[in-house]
Order: sequence, then structure tokens, then C-alpha cells
Amino acid sequence: MNARTLDTEAYFIEREPYYEPTGDEVAVFEAAYRNKLPVLLKGPTGCGKTRFMEYMAWRLKRPLITVSCHDDLTASDLVGRFLVKGGETTWVDGPLTRAVRTGAICYLDEIVEARKDTMVVIHPLADDRRTLPMEKLGLLVEADDRFCLAVSYNPGYQSVLKDLKQSTRQRFVALEFSYPSPELERKIVVTEAGVDAATAEKLVKFAHMTRNLKGSGLEEGASTRLLVHAGKLIAAGIAPITACRTAIAEAITDDAEMLAAVQELSSSLF
Ligand code: ADP
Repeated sequence: MNARTLDTEAYFIEREPYYEPTGDEVAVFEAAYRNKLPVLLKGPTGCGKTRFMEYMAWRLKRPLITVSCHDDLTASDLVGRFLVKGGETTWVDGPLTRAVRTGAICYLDEIVEARKDTMVVIHPLADDRRTLPMEKLGLLVEADDRFCLAVSYNPGYQSVLKDLKQSTRQRFVALEFSYPSPELERKIVVTEAGVDAATAEKLVKFAHMTRNLKGSGLEEGASTRLLVHAGKLIAAGIAPITACRTAIAEAITDDAEMLAAVQELSSSLF
């Protein structure tokens, strides 16, 4: 199989993904989608943005094409490029072009990580032109009516270089994601990890303790994702203290003192 060819059929989500709404994000996304407005998901890592996109793609019955952006990602990676195969040059659409042509949902995760030149292709897609300039082909492709652009961004990592420009952000309907309420987070941990309610409650308490340390030695507290990881280890028979250390503490810090402090917090609970 040619790994560069994206078969959008393969990107349909057939089974309903488990997603607990935390507010009116489902209704807002649906309204934005129906009005062809692009959506910006803001929030820390591991708080449900990807799961939400999977859920919305399932709900709207559209394929979901996700691109994890990184600092080497260029406009060509998104749009496509000429490839030479057996002496022949062929054009291969990138994931964004595929989504634009076939009416898929394109989710660009951590958009600020991508190179600046990616904005050149995103801007005309993210306003009412809904066009994709394909410079190398000299084409301007109009997006399928069912196409949707969604991007995510973590405002927590504040740096001038990693900030979204106003000219970009003011094109999107913005949905803020944060950690679910304690009751909801407990439910998510029970459902996703298969632990009992009492264990989930302790994990959520532990997460809150680490989140309170954000800014005083920790860049970020434990995310819902990490609680699910720890819960899965516990459900598999690992001692809770060990699960908290390996799935949570070691994942959020390398600092020896901070590690000891975080571990002390978990031993106060388990
Ligand atoms: P993000 O994309 O924000 O980094 P994810 O969507 O990957 O985070 O969420 C991480 C994990 O946390 C998911 O795989 C899921 O187990 C759990 N999760 C977080 N929020 C929710 C939610 N609202 N409903 C269901 N599961 C959730």
C-alpha cells in the first residue's frame, strides 16, 4: 500500500466514540459546521480535544483526517507534492487537499508547531473564500461543501514564537477545552480505564493536586489522559502507587525534587 495515498473511506469512524460533553461544544461545533465556519479548539494536552473531533466526525458522518503538526511541517506536506516513481513524475495530494476535495474534516493538531508557510494555505480556507491555493499546480481548489477545517492550540505554552497570530485566530470559532469537572472526570476514568469509582475518585483528586502545582515547578498538571493511563495499569493489577509514579509523575516531570513531591501526594491518597 502506498502510505502517501490517503483513502478517505478509511477515515470514516463507524462506531460511536465515547465522549462526555463538558458544555455546549457539540451544539456549537455542529452550528459552525453547518455554517462552514472553521473551528479552533483551545486547551491543554490530554483534555479530550482529539476524542471530541472523533465524536463530531462520527456524528456528522464525515471522514476525519488528522495531521499532528510539528516544526518541520510545511505547506507542501499539507497540500501535496510531485513524486518521481519509476522515472515518472506524479502529483500526490497531501492530507489537507484530500480533505478539501472529498469533503472530509481536517484536524490540524497543535497548529502553532507548523512552519509559518502553512498559514498561506490555511488562511484562504478559513474564511468565506474556502479555497485552497495549490501553488505548484497553479490551481485554486474550491472546498467541497462538506469540508471542515479544525485546528487545536495549547495557549498554556506561552511564547511569542508559539502564539497564534490575530490574523489567524480571528478566522475561527473558538471552543475552549479544559479538564472535565471532578464528577465527569471520575466517570471518564471509570469508563475508559475500567477501575472502580473509589479508585477513579482518588486519581482525580491526585490530578487536582498536581494541577495546583502548575506554575510552581510543573509546566502542566496531570491530564485526563494520564489518569486513564494510570487507571488502566491499576485495572491490570499494578499497585496504585506504582501506576501513579509511572503513568503520571514520571510523565509530567523529570525534576527529582518535584518527582518526590508528586509521589508524596499520591502516597497520601493510596
Ligand atoms: P487531547 O487531544 O486534548 O490531547 P485526547 O482527546 O487525546 O486529548 O484525550 C485523552 C484521553 O482522555 C482520551 O483518550 C480519553 O480517554 C480521555 N478523555 C478526555 N476527555 C474526555 C471526554 N470528554 N470524554 C471521554 N473521554 C475523554
